[in-house]
Amino acid sequence: MNGVDDKTEVREYFNATGFDRWKRIYGDGEVNKVQLDIRTGHQQTVDTLLDWFKADENLADLTICDAGCGVGSLSIPLAQAGATVFSSDISEKMVEEGKERAIALGLKDNPTFVVQDLETLSGKYHTVVCLDVLIHYPTEQAADMIKHLASLAENRLILSFAPKTCLLVILKRIGEFFPGPSKTTRAYQHREKDIVKVLEDCGLKVKRTAMTSTKFYFSRMLEAVREE
Ligand code: SAM
Repeated sequence: MNGVDDKTEVREYFNATGFDRWKRIYGDGEVNKVQLDIRTGHQQTVDTLLDWFKADENLADLTICDAGCGVGSLSIPLAQAGATVFSSDISEKMVEEGKERAIALGLKDNPTFVVQDLETLSGKYHTVVCLDVLIHYPTEQAADMIKHLASLAENRLILSFAPKTCLLVILKRIGEFFPGPSKTTRAYQHREKDIVKVLEDCGLKVKRTAMTSTKFYFSRMLEAVREE
């Protein structure tokens, strides 16, 4: 399967069955056990990253690009904490949901939500974040995405991906992530050394790392900072 097909498939998935599924997972309503486990794992990733941001004590000065923002699980708390947040996602439905959630919390113009493929994003941001998006793309395409995101990052790029070491576990369980007709959506794991090499080639050096593992959710997060 080539990259364009992957992208079309991902967009369609997150505008249809994937939207219904992930909106629930990234919400607080009733879900099944697998979804609850994924919700818990994802929240841990978000909380770890919020802790990193807060530890730096400069959130109010930051412009942050949340590429592949989903329903705003990270963008919204970042905006609430004072950062200026530009949120974009390839899925119109996810963006709409993100906007609604922000407005329901009294946030009007920040975050700014836009429907956009991360590879067409432009501008400069202090920090670019891309959480749990690269799982939808093969490593070669993910590398091009990382290079583009790095070109937007003045100071640092923070991304998360499913590490290849968990391959067997994930493959065994992947059917539970994407059951039924949506099963055609692939899930790709990446070798950390491949991701680090791409980051280094972009002049970024890994500073902080984290790993979230639950039964059904695996996410390795890297903060890569521009070298002086
Ligand atoms: N980053 C969010 C979070 O952690 O809450 C959402 C993660 S969700 C698993 C993956 C998201 O990536 C979906 O909302 C999907 O629409 C989006 N996405 C996938 N490919 C994308 C692309 N090429 N450009 C922008 N968004 C993309």
